[in-house]
Amino acid sequence: MGSVFYRLGRLDLKILVCSSEVFPYAKIGGLADVAGALPLALERQGFDVSIALPRYKCVDESKFKLKKISDTVSYAALGKGIKVYFIVNDAYFNREGLYGDKFGDHKDNLDRFSFYCRETLNLIKETDFKPDIIHCNDWQTGLIPVYLKSNLKNDVFYKDIRTVLTIHNLAYQGIFAKEEFTKLSLDESLFGAEGLEFYDKINLLKGGIVFSDVVNTVSSTYAKEILTEEFGCGLNGSLSAKKENIFGILNGLDYEIWDPEKDKFIFKNYSLKTIEDKYINKRKFQEELGLETSKQPLFGMVSRLAQQKGLDLIDEGIEEICKNSAQVVILGTGEKRYHEMLENIAKKYPNKISVHLKFDESLAHKIYAASDVFLMPSHYEPCGLGQMISFKYGTLPLAFKTGGLADTVSSDNGFIFDIYNKDMFLDAFHKAVSLYEDKCKWSNLVKRALGYNFSWDESARKYTDLYKKCLSR
Ligand code: ADP
Repeated sequence: MGSVFYRLGRLDLKILVCSSEVFPYAKIGGLADVAGALPLALERQGFDVSIALPRYKCVDESKFKLKKISDTVSYAALGKGIKVYFIVNDAYFNREGLYGDKFGDHKDNLDRFSFYCRETLNLIKETDFKPDIIHCNDWQTGLIPVYLKSNLKNDVFYKDIRTVLTIHNLAYQGIFAKEEFTKLSLDESLFGAEGLEFYDKINLLKGGIVFSDVVNTVSSTYAKEILTEEFGCGLNGSLSAKKENIFGILNGLDYEIWDPEKDKFIFKNYSLKTIEDKYINKRKFQEELGLETSKQPLFGMVSRLAQQKGLDLIDEGIEEICKNSAQVVILGTGEKRYHEMLENIAKKYPNKISVHLKFDESLAHKIYAASDVFLMPSHYEPCGLGQMISFKYGTLPLAFKTGGLADTVSSDNGFIFDIYNKDMFLDAFHKAVSLYEDKCKWSNLVKRALGYNFSWDESARKYTDLYKKCLSR
């Protein structure tokens, strides 16, 4: 143990981040942002970081100057000296869609991601890059800890490598038919309750949870919630079995992208010192949307339109919201039933609600800047970026007390309700509308929100502590 801390003191900790998505190479959701931003922040703190991801069709070889190392590995550079390894297999990865296409999930996802895990482990041996920590993310990397603790456990090269598994959303587990187990080249004893078996199927995330040294999720509250039946998605038992090794670290926010002082998409830049310019954004945005330029509070929402995001509460409460002294703008795409519901309400209250059913980066920035309140009534939320972005834009979040929302939103900086139903949601809405009348109190909350710092450097420091804990176990 002493030698580990001696090495940490000299900042020569070596970390390999494994993720099936990494910004800017391949992105579907927040996982890519984490896997792109965390390595850069760790590098700024002096650590030796590498990344491994599959080489998908969407990875632009010439833009990122990929160099071929072997038939199965290409390489690019990120930041000052981060090595990014791309695991190549054209049959598996050179196709549309990271995980699936318009017909659904790719049928060979088990073959694809088990190949990625095995090749990543081969690669570090072949290049003699022995990380102290392999930082795995989500089910696609779940087999890495499994192979390290089984097939590779007697190989001296791999012996001291420790694994951290970050769960970004427990609802996605990588579940496959048991008949595919033979493809994994694992001893059949591992297909059992103490291994990868889950209701007679293979569960790759479960494998990762059972065999990694440390598990973390993306907020402290979500780390506790996943131990419960309500939020545990069937894995609360496996998680509870190692609960002393389960931690929560909030994701950071990329302030290069989200900063009203230099945001290129908004009408007028502003900061804490020029906060009155936020209201120029509101007025111009109301004009652009054809909403009355009234002094009513503007409620914004930018979200996937899914039940997880509280769209059932929006559905139940939107009529009452529209009948009140408030305006609403919603940007999102997702489930058809919510598209229809929002289209209908926008037809009924055209002067009160403006609905945009698409993905639109520029409009999202305008909503964060122009709104007074950001609606985020998610039923569960591992971390959540929307509330952190809205703080930075002086927009007060209205949220359900869950996961990362519980860790960031309170009555000191927004509006939070703690029972998930329409009445409590609308109660929080009415509190926001009435507080908005009190300009002095409102402005104090806005100023507080604008002062928060959810930078990646802060999160990376916490990850460093987690790596240290992992090495000392
Ligand atoms: P999740 O990753 O679960 O969807 P988060 O709150 O962590 O939720 O992150 C969502 C991110 O995606 C936010 O930055 C939000 O602004 C953005 N976003 C969601 N929907 C849209 C959309 N339709 N157009 C533009 N940006 C969107």
